[in-house]
Amino acid sequence: MSETSPAITQATLVKKAAPKSDYKPADVSPQRRVQRSFAVRLWSVRHSRLLEWFYARFSDMFLALHPLWKRIGYGRVEGPIKFVEKRVKGFMFDCRMCGQCILSSTGMSCPMNCPKQLRNGPCGGVRANGNCEVEPDMPCVWVKAWEGSRNMVHGDKVLDVQKPVDQSLRETSAWLRVTAQAAAAREAARNPPNPGAPA
Ligand code: SF4
Repeated sequence: MSETSPAITQATLVKKAAPKSDYKPADVSPQRRVQRSFAVRLWSVRHSRLLEWFYARFSDMFLALHPLWKRIGYGRVEGPIKFVEKRVKGFMFDCRMCGQCILSSTGMSCPMNCPKQLRNGPCGGVRANGNCEVEPDMPCVWVKAWEGSRNMVHGDKVLDVQKPVDQSLRETSAWLRVTAQAAAAREAARNPPNPGAPA
């Protein structure tokens, strides 16, 4: 009676040939590891209503500090503010620092994570499971944007048409830009132009 040796698969050969080291990855599949990297971003979308509330308070506080920013100089405070903004939004939203933040119009899902960087809704390639056609393990940022927007008080802003990205604003602070624009609008509302005044 002949003994049959167990079949040696290609995967076994590859594993045996791999260099030995003390590092063993956590016991999850490569796909699960990729999906875990989206976990915080997806948490932010699930908690979009809370973040919308928080951001409203935060932007009011920044606007109240406008006299201070102006006194120090927006140009001078930009460095430290941008340092914080990049890290906080990078952690929470995988922010790419486009400088023209539209998170409150996209259910707290950053559209710059779309591989095609679409700012006005998804392309036609969303998979049946709601994932991206370019990155199959990544949920489509626009599917998530719609889900997040449904939780928000002003969620219908997701229907607003967004301007194309101004690439010259990359790596600048959206927080400071929004604050300075809101301060200018408030100033204009307080001092409307006098139509009878000489030009
Ligand atoms: S929209 Fe722009 S600023 Fe806002 S999180 Fe995305 S990359 Fe960052």
